[in-house]
Amino acid sequence: MTGPDRSALMRTYPEPPVTFVRGEGSYLFDAEGKRYLDFVGGLAVTSLGHSHPDVAAAVATQARTLSHVSNLYGNELGPEVATTLDRLIGGGERAAGGQVFFCNSGAEANECALKLARRWAGPGRYVVVSAWNSFHGRTLATLTATGQSAKHEPFEPLPTGFAHVDYDDLDALAKALEAPAAAGVLLEPIQGEGGVVAPSSDYLVGVRELCRERGVLLILDEIQTGLGRTGHWFAFHATHLQPDVVTVAKALGNGMPVGACWATAEVAAAFGPGDHGSTFGGQPLAMAAARATLAVMEEEDVCGRARTSGEVLASGLAALPGVTGVRGAGLLLAAELSGPFAPAVAADALDRGLLVNAVRPDAVRLAPSLLVTAGELDSALALLGEALARGAASAEAEGAVVR
Ligand code: PLP
Repeated sequence: MTGPDRSALMRTYPEPPVTFVRGEGSYLFDAEGKRYLDFVGGLAVTSLGHSHPDVAAAVATQARTLSHVSNLYGNELGPEVATTLDRLIGGGERAAGGQVFFCNSGAEANECALKLARRWAGPGRYVVVSAWNSFHGRTLATLTATGQSAKHEPFEPLPTGFAHVDYDDLDALAKALEAPAAAGVLLEPIQGEGGVVAPSSDYLVGVRELCRERGVLLILDEIQTGLGRTGHWFAFHATHLQPDVVTVAKALGNGMPVGACWATAEVAAAFGPGDHGSTFGGQPLAMAAARATLAVMEEEDVCGRARTSGEVLASGLAALPGVTGVRGAGLLLAAELSGPFAPAVAADALDRGLLVNAVRPDAVRLAPSLLVTAGELDSALALLGEALARGAASAEAEGAVVR
């Protein structure tokens, strides 16, 4: 492997198999000039592809104009981006009538939602129920909300005020919400890091109803699923439910670090000055990236494109060797494999010049640019097909259980 000496970096990530120096649209390039088709999308971040000219120009112009003033003062961009985001949460045509807090990452967006739930619910009500197999971030609170015991254990004791139930199990949730301390429910509409797992079609509507009955907040983590990724501005738009709080990050800046926590005006009113804050939250550089990103997303009809391209990708995947099923929606898809050879397939695909991610031992996740072309979809399917044929064959040769 070539690349810089990484010994001064903390070892929180495995050694990367490749170091990239440039990106353009759906492609990444390494220092040797080798080109890779990117179907990881920076983990569902670069939804407009790499180095989108409008976003790049907006950031460059803003960097030369005003990059930071702190939240002691105003800037012109934050209110505008909040208004656009509120309209997109309303479905695109009309304002949802809520308010936004800007931050710098997905975990921070969820952290804001967790604090807001406690403030809204009042003394003695602080428990947020989330799902097993979920992922909500790596700060202590969001790690605790994340429903993965293996990620919890090294950091115990964890903060109090969290409970977990099985995803897609309304009875379990109803039971958990009997606790008088319950303040909210935090769920991904589709579990992204958990393997692109969608619940039954009536689950989220049932959750909404339960939250209303019990007087607790419904907080939807749309950090991975939001902003067109699933073929809707937000995945919850596939149903007719109204969440109380929605968290957003990843694609919002198309690569500039920016997150947001949206809440209905009634819930947002629980926060007053001094309750929450972030030095960089809503700063002009990040807001310029978000404004440009959202404008291109609307101009390019990313929701429609994600639906159309998603159908092509899903049917192409279903026909590949070793694929037993396809999960997800729009351009957030996972190919279910006939055995636990996803890491080998991802490594082989990388050698062939295609980035995909082994989200589970037996599932490969695809989250390409929402502007991906028909030709790029064809190329990705061809490369993945070759990697799968090889991965399935060598798994079988090594005696893995291949159904
Ligand atoms: N929530 C969901 C659903 C995510 O997929 C992620 C990241 O993968 C996060 C929260 C955490 O976001 P970040 O890594 O920006 O803190």
